[in-house]
Amino acid sequence: MQKDIFQRIIDREIPSTIIYEDDKTIAFLDINPHTKGHFLVVSKEFSENLFDIEDDDLINLILTARKLALSQIEKLNAKGFRLEINSGIAAGQEIFRTHVHIIPYYDD
Ligand code: AMP
Repeated sequence: MQKDIFQRIIDREIPSTIIYEDDKTIAFLDINPHTKGHFLVVSKEFSENLFDIEDDDLINLILTARKLALSQIEKLNAKGFRLEINSGIAAGQEIFRTHVHIIPYYDD
């Protein structure tokens, strides 16, 4: 089976700006950011999206996403953030490996 693009980032086969990694998750900047500092958090255990992710993996992913969001928001001096998990083609999902978007928002 062909590796998905995020697995290739985990395996360091393609470059990315990694901002965090542990044994269960990796986080890196989105290549096409909606706002400054937009990043993605990906579970290392494979699932496609919210339709098939295991509960434990989802809980870990969300907790890690929130922890990273809070620290990045402070570093960037952002005022808030949006957390998104697109699930399914109809919802705009392009990469079929569960990932959380953290999109910072600023005063202006
Ligand atoms: P989604 O629509 O939720 O599947 O979003 C996929 C996201 O992955 C998009 O925001 C893309 O800009 C982002 N993306 C695709 N390829 C890469 C890559 N090589 N490095 C970082 N982000 C990527």
